[in-house]
Amino acid sequence: MHYLEALKDAAVRPLWHDPDIMPEPLAPITSEEKCELLIVGGGFTGLWAAMQAKERKPDADIILIEQTFVGNGASGRCGGFLSSTLTHSETNAEYRFADEAERLEELGIKNMHEFLETLERYNIDARYEKTGEMYVALDAESVKRMQARYQESIAEGEDVVWFDKDAVREQVNSPKFLAGMWERGGQDGVIDPARLCWGLKDVLVSQLGVRIFENTKLLGVEPLGKEAMRATCDSGVVHSDKVLLATNAYTSTIGRIRRSVIPVWDYQIATEPLTDEQIDRIGWGKTSRHAVADYVNMFHYFRLTKDNRITWGGGGAVRYYFNNGIDDKFMHATARYEQLAREFFEMFPQLDDVKFSNMWGGIIATSTRFCMVPGVAYDGRLAWSVGYTGHGIGASRFGARIGIELLGYEPTDVINMQFVTRKSLPWAPEPFRWFGVKFTQYALVKADENGGKRGLWLKFLDMLGLGFAC
Ligand SMILES: Cc1cc2nc3c(=O)[nH]c(=O)nc-3n(C[C@H](O)[C@H](O)[C@H](O)COP(=O)(O)OP(=O)(O)OC[C@H]3O[C@@H](n4cnc5c(N)ncnc54)[C@H](O)[C@@H]3O)c2cc1C
Repeated sequence: MHYLEALKDAAVRPLWHDPDIMPEPLAPITSEEKCELLIVGGGFTGLWAAMQAKERKPDADIILIEQTFVGNGASGRCGGFLSSTLTHSETNAEYRFADEAERLEELGIKNMHEFLETLERYNIDARYEKTGEMYVALDAESVKRMQARYQESIAEGEDVVWFDKDAVREQVNSPKFLAGMWERGGQDGVIDPARLCWGLKDVLVSQLGVRIFENTKLLGVEPLGKEAMRATCDSGVVHSDKVLLATNAYTSTIGRIRRSVIPVWDYQIATEPLTDEQIDRIGWGKTSRHAVADYVNMFHYFRLTKDNRITWGGGGAVRYYFNNGIDDKFMHATARYEQLAREFFEMFPQLDDVKFSNMWGGIIATSTRFCMVPGVAYDGRLAWSVGYTGHGIGASRFGARIGIELLGYEPTDVINMQFVTRKSLPWAPEPFRWFGVKFTQYALVKADENGGKRGLWLKFLDMLGLGFAC
């Protein structure tokens, strides 16, 4: 089947936003409200922040506001690859926080453990599957680079498996795969991200007494005297002791932290459920259920769902739109979906009779350090945690923890780490920002074409400490 034909009936809606399980939105704020802690943003950061604040102080009076509905940001639109990293990757931690890299890794593992324990405690079915992460090399140079990383991992005692060409194709059969590296230690895996958002929302409202208002947009927040904050929303006002901004890629509209992150669009498509016979053709879903990414800068990520669909995203379809474009119109990006569909069939030509049911976009909040940016102001009354770049499912729980600790909820020495205290470089203003991102993306594609060899521009960025070291 031609890739355009395969895409023809796909709905522009995240696969995870299944109308059969999507909860009714809660009512917006319509008057003045008071609370101890106001959380802005109904994604993972906001939801986990409410959960952890309640764990630390059960009688805390908490309001969470969300401008549309819970799970409509990156959290309900992502790929669902759950990883323990807090820094986007070990390489990024070594590069930027060398003295704290080991501690950050330990904290990431602990965070992941607590994450899964919470799901179990509250019986939240986020369809978690422990799959580890599988990288595949598509060219000879990437095989060499991946082999070097494999050797390093083995030397460090990690649980990693190497697959040569034949072996990797037995796991997941693509004629493009030349080798595979399966990192299977730890608890990394996949989830259904919207089920996680809605599971957390349900527990917060029905068991922990958090008040959630949807369709409620924060317009501005300011200190009220020396003790309180006043948040103006489109349909009401909230007076609180403290405020946490969990607004991630939409932060570009919020004055104080506007330049911490830029919104980068990432797109995905999902197939219809594969039949047993289609699964036989690729082995994947029968021999293994790996969560896969190709071993390049501009990587694709692809995984199976519980009902054996394949979701397929990333690659060269990632885009930054001039002047922080976050408008919903960028969801209707026909050329991006067509590109993804074409690349899908290049990877799996045996699946030429498969159709796509869904296509969607979401916004990644990218910081100049390519991992979370926490911060605090007004004597500990306003905090934020944003900018997880491409790895935020696990990390956002930790970002939420930092956020509430900065607001005084049982702070630990974590908030004295450089990871928290060191300021992140702000993004340059437009039009330098747009040119910089475009040029860097182009340089990353070129590096991928040259087997990972970084050109002058990427080396220059590395020198400035701005390189994408993930
Ligand atoms: C396509 C895509 C694929 C991804 N894949 C993965 C993956 O596989 N694994 C992984 O670990 N990470 C992945 N990520 C990243 C991950 O999804 C995010 O890092 C994470 O969801 C961030 O959670 P958050 O709560 O901080 O942000 P969001 O989920 O974006 O939540 C922010 C919320 O704040 C609300 N908001 C913003 N401004 C206001 C306002 N003024 N008033 C009220 N509400 C407001 C927004 O509507 C939004 O719901 C992916 C992201 C995308 C976009």
